[in-house]
Parts: sequence; structure tokens; C-alpha cells
Amino acid sequence: MKNSLYVVIPCYNEEQVLPETCKRLTKKLKNMMEDGFITKSSKMLFVNDGSNDKTWDMIKQLHKENDLVLGVNLSRNRGHQNALLAGLMTAKEKADIVISMDADLQDDIEVMDEMIQEYNKGADIVYGVRNNRKKDSFFKRTTAQGFYKFMKFLGVDVVYNHADYRLMSKRTIMELEKYKEVNLFLRGIIPLIGFQSSKVYYERKERFAGESKYPLKKMLSFALEGILSFSVKPLRIITICGFTIAFISFLFLLYVVIGHFITGNVQGWTTIVSLISFFGGFQIFCIGIIGEYIGKIYSETKQRPRYIIAEVLDDDKKNRTI
Ligand code: UDP
Ligand code: MG
Repeated sequence: MKNSLYVVIPCYNEEQVLPETCKRLTKKLKNMMEDGFITKSSKMLFVNDGSNDKTWDMIKQLHKENDLVLGVNLSRNRGHQNALLAGLMTAKEKADIVISMDADLQDDIEVMDEMIQEYNKGADIVYGVRNNRKKDSFFKRTTAQGFYKFMKFLGVDVVYNHADYRLMSKRTIMELEKYKEVNLFLRGIIPLIGFQSSKVYYERKERFAGESKYPLKKMLSFALEGILSFSVKPLRIITICGFTIAFISFLFLLYVVIGHFITGNVQGWTTIVSLISFFGGFQIFCIGIIGEYIGKIYSETKQRPRYIIAEVLDDDKKNRTI
């Protein structure tokens, strides 16, 4: 059975890679259409996430020249996850299946056929999983793998070595719409939706051109987002630490009191100062973690919109301004 496929690509300052991405995807989509894999109404949908270079102008130009190109322009930069969500929500109106991928051609577009085969076999979600991280720097590789392991330790169900290259059926995206959280971490939410899922493996390449839009600071806050939005285990760890320290303090107190009566000596100044500074630091750290959760509650309760669409380039070639 043939299905209409939309490929959703969030773009933030991607003028250097966009023409090549579009060229390769056009070829791929046309091949898949000829092979009878997907319908002729299949498209690629570029989401401009408030870029400050020529990305949106380029998308408009590509849309004029190429029937397969559609575009969504967000009102400002909202970050990768929100831009992706905006694309998925727009695409689900017309598509039977949606594949999300990055603009930089790191994800191997050749495995799209395999993804669709898995969908035809009954999977609603097909995760693109990288089979190695040889191309990553040592630092990125160890931090990323440490992150996945830590998430697992916290009891969060994330697919190991899977970024945001995945196929989703229309009904999966319909269900995704019900998750209203503002602190968005799609990799954590999508396994929660359920349905049958499958994996395809690919070798992740280096970025085709341009620079990574995830510098260390953004990467860390993204990792923190994942942890805080999906697990309350850090709070439990604090409680356990509290109990343990209270117990040790009790033993220490016994030691001090007994020592006082036996030897009559006052315990050393160094011990007291080091204990005070250790517990002072530890308590502030714990308050910090609790504060992070309160911060999340704060932003969730306001329920601000996750993205605002400024313009849509539809397939009827008329620009729609919302
Ligand atoms: N991106 C985005 N908004 C942002 C940052 C990134 O839409 O604020 C897009 C970016 O254009 C790319 C994808 O998210 O298509 C992933 O970013 P990147 O490839 O720079 O991340 P990396 O692969 O280095 O982790
Ligand atoms: Mg990338």
C-alpha cells in the first residue's frame, strides 16, 4: 500500500547546507515515488526556526522552484524540539507517515526505504539508530553515552543512540498532540506513546557544512531537560542522602558525647569546620535540584504556546500568513 510521506526538517541558520539537503531529498523522494513506495503527494517540509541568516529566503525560493518543497516559518527561534513539533503538527494534516531529520545530512537518507518497510510491516514508530559514534569527538561520544546510561539509571525509557531521525505514523502524531508539556524532550515522550515500534541502523556522517547548533551549553541544558522532565529520581536520591547523612550524624554524635565523658576533650576545630562546609555545600546543591523542579513547574503552569507560526508555504503555492 502506498502512503504519503512528509519529511520534516527543522532549520536554524542552515543556509550552507539547505540547497544540498534539498537536492538530495528531492532525488530520494522521486526515486521512492517511482518505486511505488510513496504517493506523488509526498513532500519535504522545512521549518525555519527563527534563523538570522538567509534560511527562510532560501526555503521560499526552493518552494517556488520545486513542487516537493513546503515551508513553515516560526515567529522566532524556539529551539530544535519546538521547531520539530511545529513541523510534525503541520505535516500530520496531510501525511500518512512523517520522517523527521536534521538539516545537516548527518542522518543517512538511504535508510528511509527501510523505515517505510518497517512501517508497512506494522510499526507505528521507526527509530533511526546510529550504529557507531566513530565520527564524534571523544568528548561528545563519552558525554552522549554517559547521558543515555544515566537516563537509563533514572528509569527513563530512551532509545540508545537515537536522536530525532525517526518515522512516525499519523496516529502517533495525533497522540503526541495530547502531550501538552512546555519543557519538550521528544526522545523521552515518543516511547511513552506506545504502539508497535521498530529500529533501523545507520552510520551517522559528519555535518555536511556549517556549524553544530548545539554548543556545549545548549547540549547540557538539553540533557538536563531530559532528566528533569522525565524523572523525579534525583529528588528521591536527595531524600536517601538525607537519611544516610542523618544516620551517620547520629553515630558521630554518640562518638562525640561518649568521647567527651571519657576523655573530657573538646573535638577538633578542623573536623567541625570541614563538616560545616561540606554540609553547607551539599544542602545548597540539594536546594538547587529542588529549585530546578520548581522552575519546571513554573513554566508548565503558565502553559505558554510552544511555538507560533508566522507563515506557511502550502502546496497550492499561495503563501498563507497566520
Ligand atoms: N535546530 C533548530 N533550532 C535550534 C537549533 C538547532 O531548528 O535552535 C536544528 C538545526 O538546524 C538542525 C537540527 O536542529 O537541523 C540539529 O542541530 P545540529 O545538527 O546543529 O545538532 P548536532 O547534530 O550538532 O547535535
Ligand atoms: Mg547535526
